[in-house]
Amino acid sequence: MRAQVETTLRGPESYSLARRVVDEMQAANVWPTPVNFELWLHYLGDPEGPLGREIQRLLAADEPFTDAMSDMLAAEYLPRGRLSEEIRDAGRVLDRELASVADAISKAHQSQSAYGDTLADASAGIERVENPDGLKTLVTTLTTATLKVQNENAALEKKLETSTREVAKLREHLEQVRRDAMTDALTNLANRKAFDEHLSAACEAEDADSKALTLAVIDIDHFKRFNDTWGHQTGDQVLRYVASVLARVARHPRMAARYGGEEFAMIFPSESAGTVEAALNAVRHEIASRALRRRSTNDELGAVTISAGFAQRKRGESASALLERADAALYVSKRNGRNQVTAADVLDKAA
Ligand code: GH3
Ligand code: MG
Ligand code: MG
Repeated sequence: MRAQVETTLRGPESYSLARRVVDEMQAANVWPTPVNFELWLHYLGDPEGPLGREIQRLLAADEPFTDAMSDMLAAEYLPRGRLSEEIRDAGRVLDRELASVADAISKAHQSQSAYGDTLADASAGIERVENPDGLKTLVTTLTTATLKVQNENAALEKKLETSTREVAKLREHLEQVRRDAMTDALTNLANRKAFDEHLSAACEAEDADSKALTLAVIDIDHFKRFNDTWGHQTGDQVLRYVASVLARVARHPRMAARYGGEEFAMIFPSESAGTVEAALNAVRHEIASRALRRRSTNDELGAVTISAGFAQRKRGESASALLERADAALYVSKRNGRNQVTAADVLDKAA
């Protein structure tokens, strides 16, 4: 549902959907707060989805849309809300496991010290033993105490094992949540957030070992026209295709991301400008030479082309300054007729 609404918002129906959202909010007497706007957007974008049905139910029941109600719906149904819900759940599980481990440790501690007392008593008592029966009683007391302490230790061990398993499961789950939050749903590439984080980490690493770091931005040419001609679903198919080509050349330590709409970005740590340019041109050729077909109808769509710009980071340069120079190079590719790759240092020399 999320990807679908996100796509509609960048397609031909985007503004009419946004306008309809405002009208419907007004008709329903709902304040156009950002949360309500997002809720209504998902509702009208997908009226038969779980959120859509819930809002229709509330409207039919004449329930007032208070801020509290909106927050509840957002937490339950909006992707961002679900994420914080997951994190709260994880916190609860951790709390529970920690409490029960602490409890088991404290019990084991108590029985260890009781056992110590029993041993001390026994060593004092042994002096006073007068006959075999007395000795037998003493041994029985010691055996019982030893067994008790053994049992407590076994229980603690078991508890620790279960907790370790629970925490490992939790860690795996959180790792999945983290991956989802860093992944673009449409193309499965890293998203902009992941990219920005990766880029600042790469800048720091470069400061430490002074290896070259290159940033490329890649944009599909005339994509609006493509969407308008073939519809945004086919447009989405093209986005996935371009992403798949990028993913193939972006093997670690390179990385590729969907930076926004029909724009992608790549990081090349420690490669020469020549290899980066060659890699980008290989991508460009591959995409331009592929005759695309529409999946639903098998119509020939022809080829799409991409333009790219790249910049090598100057010493100490900020991520945003680097991005700006790569963007300027991309713009030159566009202006010079598209379907080409431009290096930012060409601009530096020209300036
Ligand atoms: P240029 O060659 O100058 O880049 O032209 P362009 O048409 O590609 O660029 P412009 O920025 O004018 O239009 C970008 C289009 O990309 C607009 C929008 O419809 C489309 N778009 C953005 N995100 C998505 C998406 O997720 N799915 C689809 N199908 N289209 C998208
Ligand atoms: Mg474009
Ligand atoms: Mg663009």
